[in-house]
Amino acid sequence: MEPFDELLTMAESAHGHLCAGQILGVRMAVLGCERLGIDEPRGRDRKRLVTFVEIDRCATDAIGVVTGCRLGKRALKFRDWGKMAATFIDLAPKDVTGYRAIRIAARESSKDLARTLHPEIENKNQQQMLAYRELSDADLFTEEWVRVTLPPREFPGYKAERLACAQCGEGINYDRFVERDGQRLCYACANPDGRYYQPL
Ligand SMILES: [Zn+2]
Ligand SMILES: [Zn+2]
Repeated sequence: MEPFDELLTMAESAHGHLCAGQILGVRMAVLGCERLGIDEPRGRDRKRLVTFVEIDRCATDAIGVVTGCRLGKRALKFRDWGKMAATFIDLAPKDVTGYRAIRIAARESSKDLARTLHPEIENKNQQQMLAYRELSDADLFTEEWVRVTLPPREFPGYKAERLACAQCGEGINYDRFVERDGQRLCYACANPDGRYYQPL
C-alpha cells in the first residue's frame, strides 16, 4: 500500500478537492484492507475485494480510489443508508455461509473529538482535516467482523443470459427482470409507479 499522503493526493485529484471526508475515507479504506490482509488492492489483490458503502458523500470517493472498487466493475456496492460506514469483503476465503468481511463505521463522536483536539482552528473542515489525520483508528472508527452473502449476480466477473423486456424492448442484464404471465419484464415496466422517473 502507498503511503498515506500519496493515497490522499490520489483521492484529492479524483474527488476534485481535499476535504475531511477524503481523509476519513482514505483511513477507513486503508484500515479495511489492513484488517483483511490485503496489501495491493489495485494490484496483486485486485480480484479479492468487494466493498459496500453506506453513504454517497465525499468519503465514498476516497474509498473507491484506495480500494480500486468501482461501480463499473461491480466491485463497489451502494446502500443508501446515510451512514458513514463501509464493509470490506475478502473474496479469497469462502465457506458455505458467505464471505468474511470487516464493517467499519466512523464514530459520531469524532467531530467533537476534532473540536476538543484543535479548538484553535475555527474552520470546521480544517479542524477535522487535521484531527482526522492525528486521531487513532480506535478514536475514529468502530469495527465489526461480519459475514456477507454475495449471490453470483453480484460478482464482478459474473456473466449470464441477457434478454429484452417484453414490453419496452430494452435490454436487461442477467436476472434483473420480473416474470409475469409468462413474460419477462424490466423493473420499470413491471412496476411503473416504482420508477425513479416518470415520462413527461
Ligand atoms: Zn469532499
Ligand atoms: Zn421494459
